[in-house]
This record gives sequence, structure tokens and C-alpha cells, in this order.
Amino acid sequence: VSPLSARAQAMQESATIAMAKKCRELIAKGLDVINLSFGEPDFQTPQYIKDAAKQALDDGYTFYTPVPGIPELRQAICDKFRRDNQLDFQPNQIVVSTGAKQALANAVLSLVNPGEEVIVFSPYWVSYEEMVKLAGGTTIELRGTLENEYKVTAAQLEAAITERTKLVMYSSPCNPTGAVFSREELGTIAGVLARHPQVYALADEIYEYINFVGEHVSLAQFPEVRDRVITVNGFSKGYAMTGWRLGYLAARPDIAYACEKMQSQITSGTCSISQRAGLAALRGGRSSADEMVEAYRRRRDLVLDIVRDIPGFKTPTPSGAFYIFPEVSAYFGRTAPDGRPISNAMDLALYLLNDALVSAVSGEAFGAPECMRFSTAAADDQLVEAFRRVKESLAKLN
Ligand code: PLP
Repeated sequence: VSPLSARAQAMQESATIAMAKKCRELIAKGLDVINLSFGEPDFQTPQYIKDAAKQALDDGYTFYTPVPGIPELRQAICDKFRRDNQLDFQPNQIVVSTGAKQALANAVLSLVNPGEEVIVFSPYWVSYEEMVKLAGGTTIELRGTLENEYKVTAAQLEAAITERTKLVMYSSPCNPTGAVFSREELGTIAGVLARHPQVYALADEIYEYINFVGEHVSLAQFPEVRDRVITVNGFSKGYAMTGWRLGYLAARPDIAYACEKMQSQITSGTCSISQRAGLAALRGGRSSADEMVEAYRRRRDLVLDIVRDIPGFKTPTPSGAFYIFPEVSAYFGRTAPDGRPISNAMDLALYLLNDALVSAVSGEAFGAPECMRFSTAAADDQLVEAFRRVKESLAKLN
């Protein structure tokens, strides 16, 4: 018998991390693999932020910090919410964490009891489901339709809420689909939530700055639900700071305090150097992000141009983030040149990895087993080459 807990045994390895591992193995063998499986900006962190980190070291910021973050950073996050989102928070409503990932986990573990239901808008980010499982909750997946860019509607939400529903989770801009909720759409969702006072919402806004349609709307902007929304954001995507592990949430003071307690027993305050760097990032505004967004938009258009010519791929136009998420089921039931059957998106992802040397992720881990996710956060020539190879490999299927 395994010595491992039922909890550990039930947990899945993150599919994106698993695919990246396979990809690194092939690269180590000397193969020219193009990795489009990771959700990571290919940009360096802007220089002014790196400089602030060096300065922090020289200034001796090498000690434990307060668990919910250094006061200057919590204040700067309040200022950011006021400037970008017209939201008024006090520093005691902010908890700074080891990435947005920890902020999400803190919130789920602080709110969800065993047996309670968490409605997750699907396709969803891989970790949501596992976090709910850790809390003992039950995930209720709510699928948006391809015709609606996979966005869940207020009517779908209304129909899914039961007396056991505790939390609703979504990301906008969405990983993996790139869909962005409009003010009107989120307003109707807020209207549904307003009628169910026992239901809370976790709004993952980590891709806020990577938005090609313009307006970013926060669910917390709707006064009727504001006290029941936990807003998560961070530095990984907008400031290209994935390795720094810096994210945060904003919530009602009692919820923020519960998250602080949770964090105090598991990790404490996140890295002191990263917090000083994050402070500089926010004080620098969002112009560095705006430059990166222009590149992401150009790459999206470049990739869509090629992908629209791939037979059988149905790809909505992403409004934000840096992924494309084609529906690829037209290839299920085909056979690879070596006789191996392609029965699902995982088979297709493995075939493309071995034949095209392009690494992407099966949609299964995002709740959409008929889709695949390709990151568009790579150099233009790499993207062109990758999708040329994908197209060529797909044409070889019988
Ligand atoms: N939320 C979504 C939707 C993401 O795609 C990611 C990262 O891939 C995260 C949260 C976690 O971000 P962080 O690096 O800040 O932990």
C-alpha cells in the first residue's frame, strides 16, 4: 500500500508542467523542439524592475516581511486598483502572495468547505479544479459554447446554482481561450450573483493588461456583489515576472484576514526582494506592459492567419492573454503514419510533439478535451515555423 495520503494520490500533476517536462527531455536529446506549452511571457522583466531588486539587496531587504506583504506594496496595490479599476480598497484588504497561484489557493481554502460546490467556468485554468479538490469541494464545470467564444452566460450560471454553491471561479481575460468578458456580460453575471447571497466569486484577473479589445472589467466594480468578490491579480504576465513569484488578492477584510492566516501557516510573506521589485513595477505604471501587448497582438494575428488555413481547426479569435485554443476533434479517429491511432487531443499533442517537434497542451486539463492550447508567447519566426510544421504534420494523418 502506498504511504501517500489520499489527498496526494488524488492530485494530478499540472498538465502544462508535464508537457513542458517532456519537451525539455527532447530538447536535451538535441532535437529542435518549439515549446508552445507553457504559459509564460518570452520577454525579460523590464530593466527598471530588475534595478529595484538589485537596490533592495544592497539596501538590506533580506528579512522576513509581514505575512500579507510590506505596507508600501499593499498601499501601491490599492493605488493600482483605484487607477486601473476604479476600486477602493484599504491595505488591510490586500494579501500579497507567492504568485497569483497562492492567492487563488488561499481564497479557495479560506472559503470552501467539504461538500460545497464551486462553479468553474470552463474551459478553465488547470489548477482551479485541483485547488477545489484540496479544499474538499465539488467542482461543477459550466461550459461556454464555441459560438460564444466559450464564455459562460448569466442564464447558464443561474441554472447551475444550488443551495450547496459556495463559489464561482473564472478568469478574464481567460486562460486558455483568451475570451474577455464585456461590461454587459459581467453585469448580468453580477445580477445573478446578487440574487444568491450565499455565493462568492473568485475573479482571476492575472491577464488584465494583455487585452486586445480595450476595456477590462472587474466583477468587483458592480456594487451589488462587491463584498462577495475576491479579485486576484499579479505580476507574472503583465510585467513578465513569472520567476519572481508575486501575486495578490483584494477582498473584504474578514476574507483577506482568513487568507493571511492560511498563508502564515504555509509559506509566510513572499520573497522580500520580489516585493520591492513589485513596488517599483507598480510605481512605473503600465507602459512596459503596453509595449508587450503590441507584440502579443501582432503574434496573435500572425498565428491566426496561418491557423485559419489548417483544415479542421476551429479557432475563436482571442481577445486577450497569449494563447490560441482551437477545437481539433476533426482529427480524432485518424491514424499517424506509423499506425498509431489519434483518439483524443492527448494523442494529437504527443503526435505533434514527436512529428512536428511542437509542444502544445491537450485541452483535457482545461475541461475541454476536444481542444488544444498553443501559447503565442514566442518569437514571430518561431511561431511561423511552429504552425508551418503543425500544418504539415496534420496533413500526414490518414
Ligand atoms: N491564473 C491564471 C489564469 C494563470 O494562467 C496563471 C499562470 O499561468 C496564474 C493564475 C498563476 O500566476 P502566478 O505566476 O502569478 O502564480
